[in-house]
Amino acid sequence: MVGMKHVVLFSGGAASSYAAYLLANDKKIPFKDIVFLHTPTLSECEDAEKFRLKVARRIGIPMTVWGRGEDIWDCMDRNRMIPSNFFPFCTRELKQRMKEEYYKYLKRCGEEWIEYIGYGPHEWGRVQKAVARNELIGRTVKFPLVANRISNDECKRIIRDEWGIELPSAYQTLAHNNCIPCAKGGKAYFRLVWEHYPGEYQKMAEKEEKYGYTVFKGISLKELADKFEAEKEWEDMQMNLSDFIPCDCWI
Ligand code: SF4
Repeated sequence: MVGMKHVVLFSGGAASSYAAYLLANDKKIPFKDIVFLHTPTLSECEDAEKFRLKVARRIGIPMTVWGRGEDIWDCMDRNRMIPSNFFPFCTRELKQRMKEEYYKYLKRCGEEWIEYIGYGPHEWGRVQKAVARNELIGRTVKFPLVANRISNDECKRIIRDEWGIELPSAYQTLAHNNCIPCAKGGKAYFRLVWEHYPGEYQKMAEKEEKYGYTVFKGISLKELADKFEAEKEWEDMQMNLSDFIPCDCWI
């Protein structure tokens, strides 16, 4: 008989953590068939892994990790270029391809699966795209936070205040617990990285120089840093984080 796995894409951000919790508490789903699939990029804030482990233990299901063993810097070096909003090859190679490899493994084991993503009710556009994409290939995808109308802020509150688990430090300054820096971030996002993660900003600026591509059209990160430094008004002008588009599979 073909089995059915329920695979939560578990990035280790607050939203996917709470989506995983909802699934684990859904009495209709056999506990043994729930998979917390984590596809690591090894490039997040330093306490992200600690957070993931604590969440998995709180829920009582071990993480399943399937990754390439590369961080974003390795990925850039292998491709000899840097990712951007238009060509985010890091998402594709470190996350989407790893997820697909895991699904191939499930198939070989004779399993079917349903995918669960932690998009929130405010991310309706992304939900629709994911549904359409999956329908095309005959897959089922579900969104526990949308179904339960739970916002991202509420997920953070519950994890922090009710579970007593400290959120990853990235949330203190950035909207998402993603790679730092994420090449899909806009200038406002890079302004925050420049201020709070200068080492990572510098590393990305060096990759731009090394490979001759820039994250933003017409301006290098080095030039942008000079602007941040010189023009105080950047601080107010650029703090709009709405220009940040997170990884498609990273929530
Ligand atoms: S979070 Fe950003 S840098 Fe990391 S894999 Fe996704 S697009 Fe790439």
